[in-house]
Amino acid sequence: MDEFPVLSSFAVFFLGLIIGSFLNVVICRLPDGGSILKPASRCPSCLVPIRWYDNIPLLSWCALRGKCRSCRAPISVRYPLIELMTALLFLAAKLKFGLTPVLMIRELPFLAILIAVTFIDLEHRIIPDELSLGGLVLGLVSTFFLHASLAWPMSVLGALLGFGIFFGLSWAYLRLAGRAGLGGGDVKLLAMIGAFLGPAGVFATVLISSVSGSLVGLGWAWWARRHGISLEGPSDQPSELEDQAAAAADTNLLAAAIPYGPFLVIGAIYYHLLGDFLWFQFTIPT
Ligand SMILES: [Zn+2]
Repeated sequence: MDEFPVLSSFAVFFLGLIIGSFLNVVICRLPDGGSILKPASRCPSCLVPIRWYDNIPLLSWCALRGKCRSCRAPISVRYPLIELMTALLFLAAKLKFGLTPVLMIRELPFLAILIAVTFIDLEHRIIPDELSLGGLVLGLVSTFFLHASLAWPMSVLGALLGFGIFFGLSWAYLRLAGRAGLGGGDVKLLAMIGAFLGPAGVFATVLISSVSGSLVGLGWAWWARRHGISLEGPSDQPSELEDQAAAAADTNLLAAAIPYGPFLVIGAIYYHLLGDFLWFQFTIPT
């Protein structure tokens, strides 16, 4: 099927740019409940419709030097970055899985959903059900009907495990800490990841996300304390007790400041594209 691998790699890269441009619209409009398809893109500052030649992925942003043509309001660098990121991840998936129906129907949509989830969670602290539950259905159905690398019973098992692990953790956390730590969105996201990656993928995702999440969390807490960001405010005479209070406040602030979804996505994408390079091998059959 893939007789011109260089040409098809370029094609998948450009497909990634276009889908990335579409994901920018999804990320902006889905949390507000707006229509994805209408109206046409407008500048958020002056509401002038964006012309087609100013809407070309990556190139238009560079040509306009990140400013609206009409009102010169800055356009976030996030837009071209998401386009480039989508294109590079699509290319990586094509190189790993080859140009197959499974790539087009299953692996690329999986990556696109994960990218949208990441940026919506970072900005709004929610993971829309359209993405997590829609992805869960796509993962289960596509594994059942396509010759994916995963057998369909493993897809079902992965989804149940993903749902079970986080549901159990968030229930235990609520009982012990008296407040919700992990969102229901994270539970549904891990169930979706399980449907695509199976039980081994769920374990790898939880492991990688908790390690990377802890490292970023510790770094953030250190940075916040250095810069005096604290729920309690700065105290005049620090004592051991006040240090502990400040540390507890940091933990609270941390839970509010850092969503967990993006770390699950990092774990899932790492396992999905670079699973062969894990430093340990999972012996669970996939
Ligand atoms: Zn404008």
